[in-house]
Formats: sequence, C-alpha cells, structure tokens
Amino acid sequence: MLLSKALLAAARRPALRAAVVRTPATRAVVDRFVPGESLDDAVAAVRALSAQGVAVTLDHLGEDVTDRAQAVRSRDAYLALLDALAPLALGPAAEVSVKLSAFGQALPDGGHDVALELVRPVAEAATAAGTTVTLDMEDHRTVDSTLAVLTDLRKEHPGTGAVLQAMLHRTEEDAKALAVAGSRVRLVKGAYDEPDTVAYRRKKDVDAAYARCLELLMAGPGYPMVGSHDPAIITRAHELAAQHSRAADSWEVQMLYGIRPDEQRRLAAAGTTVRAYVPYGADWYGYFMRRLAERPANVTFFLRSLVTR
Ligand code: FAD
Repeated sequence: MLLSKALLAAARRPALRAAVVRTPATRAVVDRFVPGESLDDAVAAVRALSAQGVAVTLDHLGEDVTDRAQAVRSRDAYLALLDALAPLALGPAAEVSVKLSAFGQALPDGGHDVALELVRPVAEAATAAGTTVTLDMEDHRTVDSTLAVLTDLRKEHPGTGAVLQAMLHRTEEDAKALAVAGSRVRLVKGAYDEPDTVAYRRKKDVDAAYARCLELLMAGPGYPMVGSHDPAIITRAHELAAQHSRAADSWEVQMLYGIRPDEQRRLAAAGTTVRAYVPYGADWYGYFMRRLAERPANVTFFLRSLVTR
C-alpha cells in the first residue's frame, strides 16, 4: 500500500522521470507494457494482435500537458495514428483511447474548452475511419469535465466511449446514467491514488463496487467494456452475459497490452470479444509507474532486472 502510494506520487512527478528513464534496464521492463515509441511499432503490435483475434484500442502516450502547443501535438499524433490505421481496414476492431489531460484539459483558463476543441477532430477522423474514440478517465477532479466532453462528442459521434472507475463513490450513479442504449462504457477499478473522501480505498470495497457497477451495465442496453485482468471479474462478466442473454458482440473484455496475453488469446479463441489497450510513444513514464504501482510482482520484476544487468 505504501509502496503503491509512493509509486503513484512519483508517476505525477516529471522530475523523477529522468532518473527512471535513463537506465537501460528500465527499457527492457517497459517493453513488456509498451510495444514501442514509434507509430510503426504501434501498427506492428496491432497487426500481431489482430492476427490472434484480439481487437485493440491505441493510446498515444502523454498526459498532463502544460501548454497548448503540446496539446496540439497530441491531437496531431492521434490524427496520424488514425491515418496509419486506415490501410489495415480493421474498422471498430482498431479504435483509440485518449487522455484529455494530453489535450489540455488541465490548462488554466479554459482547459476544458481547449480539450473539447482539440479532441473533436480526432472523433471526426475516427468516425470517418469507421471506428471510435474512448475517453480514458484520470483523477477524480477530471470526471465532471470528461463526462461533459463525452456528452458533447456523443451528439455527433454517438459511439464515443467513456471510462468509469469503480473505486470512486460517485461511479454507481454515473453507471446508472450511462447504462443507456448506444453508450459504450469501460469499467475499471481505477489507477489513481484517491482520497477516502471520494473513493473506496480497500481492495475488497473496490471489488464489491466493481461488481455492483458491472451488474448495472450488463443489465442495461449499452455496450459494456469490462476493463480488468481479475479472473473473478471476468468469470462474473460471463455469468452476467449469459443471464442477460447478451450476444458475444454486445460486450467485451479489455486488458492492457502485455498483461495476461495468454488469457487474452484464450478468451478470444473461445468466442469472447477481447480488446487489448496498446500504449505507444516516448512519454511512457506515468503509464509505466501506474503499472508498477498496481502489482508488487511488477516492481520485483523491475528491481530484479536492475540488478541482473
Ligand atoms: P487487480 O486488482 O490489479 O488484480 C486482480 C487480479 O487480477 C490479480 O489478483 C491477478 O489474479 C490478476 N492480475 C492482475 N494483474 C495481473 C498480471 N500482471 N499478471 C497476472 N495476473 C494479473 N484506470 C484508470 O484509472 N483510468 C482508465 O482510463 C483506465 N483504463 C484502463 C483500460 C484497460 C483496458 C484496463 C485493463 C485497465 C485500465 N485502467 C484504467 C487501470 C485499472 O483502473 C486498474 O488499475 C488495472 O486494470 C488493475 O486492476 P484489475 O482489475 O486488472 O485487477
């Protein structure tokens, strides 16, 4: 718990980035979670996964931008990504995930509007390519703004998806509001270090909240995206799909690139729609630190690689 808290705090401190990024050992461990820094690396990962029957959602790594020029670069990276995906003709099997903090959401003076203005062309390009955008969810202070961007984008791009974090107290209400026809919701536990005034802090409470939200979403007419590596959750999702007579194309399981890849392939081969979240790009530090924080085994793996090199 303490270690995880320290890693999550470090994830938001760019000053520590250089110390972590510069070691060659880090690179080897990062490769497990991030297929590469270039667009070509991302496209190669998409080809490999789709050959295994696994759909993808691509994340151009970046978050917490501090000026508009960086936010514009995020938009342009996504437009280039959607261009690069077009020849693969995968349609909705290759979509994109965006973090609005990479689009300027936290900029003082109108960050919300900047993010909406810059993400809109990405949603337009995705619709033109026959695919969708999912808005990742960041720390709890961004939820209202992100859900407002979702509402705006869905007017013209109804397939735009959102992420709900089960750990937040508010999420059951948000899940009820979003369990409507046409809405795509990725349910996750939540990767940010949140105060107990707004979030469940004990694993057992987060798991119970996840189960309640999952029931709401699976019972509704929307398209639930079960974002978890947890075997108990995956089993429960299949039970609920059977109980509500859901067709295999009316919901999906999502896992992160490099985590339980055998299970991703196994589920896909058994007929479940599976999508891997594929992050790529140079700015992998925050993403990588959150993955370390999630699982002590990942830290052990990282430390072992530092001493054995
Ligand atoms: P955990 O509670 O971490 O693990 C439960 C069990 O799963 C473990 O006991 C183990 O059995 C199994 N497991 C977990 N990891 C591994 C592993 N590495 N190897 C083998 N077994 C493992 N968070 C956000 O806050 N915002 C987002 O927008 C967001 N998007 C996400 C998108 C996707 C597709 C996914 C999968 C996660 C996303 N997350 C996001 C992260 C999420 O909030 C959790 O932090 C993360 O998924 C870990 O929770 P878990 O449900 O996998 O289960």
